[in-house]
Order: sequence, then C-alpha cells, then structure tokens
Amino acid sequence: MRLLFALIASLAAATGAAAQTYPNKSITIIVPFAAGGPSDALARIMGEHMKGTLGQSFVVENVTGAAGSIAVGRAVRSAPDGYTISFGHLGTHVANGAIYTLPYDLLADLEPVVLLPSNPMVVVSKNALPAKTLKELLAWLKANQDKATAGTAGAGSGSHLAGVYLQSLTGLKLQYVPYRGTAPALTDLVGGQIDIIVDQASNSMQQIRSGGIRAYAITDTKRLKAAPEIPTAEEAGLPGFHMTLWNGLWAPKGTPKDAIARLNTAAVAAMADPAVQKRLNDLGLEVPAREQQTPQALGVWHKAEIDKWWPIVKKAGIKPE
Ligand code: ASP
Repeated sequence: MRLLFALIASLAAATGAAAQTYPNKSITIIVPFAAGGPSDALARIMGEHMKGTLGQSFVVENVTGAAGSIAVGRAVRSAPDGYTISFGHLGTHVANGAIYTLPYDLLADLEPVVLLPSNPMVVVSKNALPAKTLKELLAWLKANQDKATAGTAGAGSGSHLAGVYLQSLTGLKLQYVPYRGTAPALTDLVGGQIDIIVDQASNSMQQIRSGGIRAYAITDTKRLKAAPEIPTAEEAGLPGFHMTLWNGLWAPKGTPKDAIARLNTAAVAAMADPAVQKRLNDLGLEVPAREQQTPQALGVWHKAEIDKWWPIVKKAGIKPE
C-alpha cells in the first residue's frame, strides 16, 4: 500500500513537473532579416518582455537571404518543442509562397502563435534628391527611370512589395537593389548610394527625425502619431496607396499546445504593457486588437491573407532573386 502511495505521489509530481518545465531553457526566435532592422527590432522588444513572463531568455537569430524564405525553412525543420519560433510578416509568411518554390507549406508546416503589431510603409529618399513632395519625387523618378534605385530587403519583402505596388499605381519603373534587410538598405540610403526605399515606418523613423533622409508619404489613411508631419498618401496626391505590414510568430508544426499557449500568453502580456506600447507607438507600430491576438485568430488571418495576396503577387510576376 505504501509503495502504491509512493508511486502515485511520484507520478503526480512527475506530471506536475512536466507541465511546469516549459520553458526550461532559452527560446530562439528566428528573424528572417538583418540585425538592426524593423523585424529584428520588434522581435527584440517582444522577447525582452516575454522573458519576464516566462523566466527564460529569448535569443534572436538573424537568418537572412531570399527575402526570409531560408529563415522560415530553418524554423519549419527545427524540433517542434517550443524552443524555436519563427518571426515573420506579410512578405515572409504570405507573399514568399507565391514567389519562391518553397520546400515547406506556409500553412500546413507552421502553428500560429500570435499576431504582432503592424505598421504602414513610408516613402523615403536620400537627402540629395531635389524633390520635396511626393509629387516632385514621382516626377523625378519618372525622369530618371533608368537609373533610379530602390533599396529592398529582397524579392517579396515588405519594402519590395510596397515598391511594386507603387509602380503599379504610377506606371513607374524602378531598379531594385536587394539587401539582407532594410537596416543595411537604410545605411546606404543615408550614405546616398541608393535613391529611395518604401520602408517600414518603424525602420526609417529615427533617420527621418534626425534629418538623415527625407520622408514623403505614409501608406495609410491616417497620419502616424509618432510622425504627424508626414502626409498620408491621399494628402500627398497618391490616393489608394495603402499597405499595412503586419507581423506574427509561428512555431513548427507539432509544437505542444501548452508551449504555444504559454508563448501566446507572454506575447499578449507584452503587447498589453503600457511601457512596451509606448516603445512600439514611438516607432509607428500599432498593437492588434485583443481578439486578434489568439493563435486561432492568427490562423484565420494568415489563411485570408494568403488567399488575398497570392493572386496579386502572381499577377505582378515577381521573380525570385
Ligand atoms: N522586415 C524587413 C527587415 O527587417 C524589411 C522588409 O521586409 O522590407 O529588414
């Protein structure tokens, strides 16, 4: 009898312990673009706060190349144990599926964890360009079609999709210069090696504020609280130029539900913290509504975005790098 009790007690302790053990070591977030860029920055802001909730640190691994498709592949192939997660956005987790022949399925091989903040894009140029308004910039680009360069984070990245969208609205031709992220692209824009970027607002914000580059318009119907001096596309004379780059976290298929729930809870807590919200808002990032923050909601959103964007991206004929 005593033996039986001991057995039951140790079994209970073991199951209790198993439930308590995740996470018992650091968690890797695979970020598909260069360090110092907008994806990296958001992943780090989230990870810093999630560490406080889960008691384990988040290690950001920047896996660059092919607009994030290498990074997502790495995440898909890692052990589905909750210790490797995939950070990405509309480009890496949606558009890439219509551009690259991926060795994985964006929906079937990933488990949604949480939808993360989004931001509009901003049209920015090097200071040396003569244009001061969006109309003047478009006129300059038109007059310099054969040499005007636009930096991107690769074919299918946010900055590239936004550039293609701008082309389709204006009939412009742009020469794209792919980088491993918009952090190095921005460095070259400040240095004057490239002419423009249609960048995530969060990436360009600091350089806009310090006068290192010039901003012309944001791809939203309302101005950014963080930079109210930048006109909307409507105000600047390009109605309909709207694009919101949303972000998210996924885990490899088969990751235990409990781990996903804990990651989700930690991300939700981060986005509810006023100090985190302030940092995000200063970068022009907006937290999704609470009901959008469940794994199920990301699953539904992800599928809907694939259905919406694949025909558009395929029609645009974007070629892989
Ligand atoms: N999010 C990318 C980065 O972090 C840029 C992009 O998608 O355009 O560099």
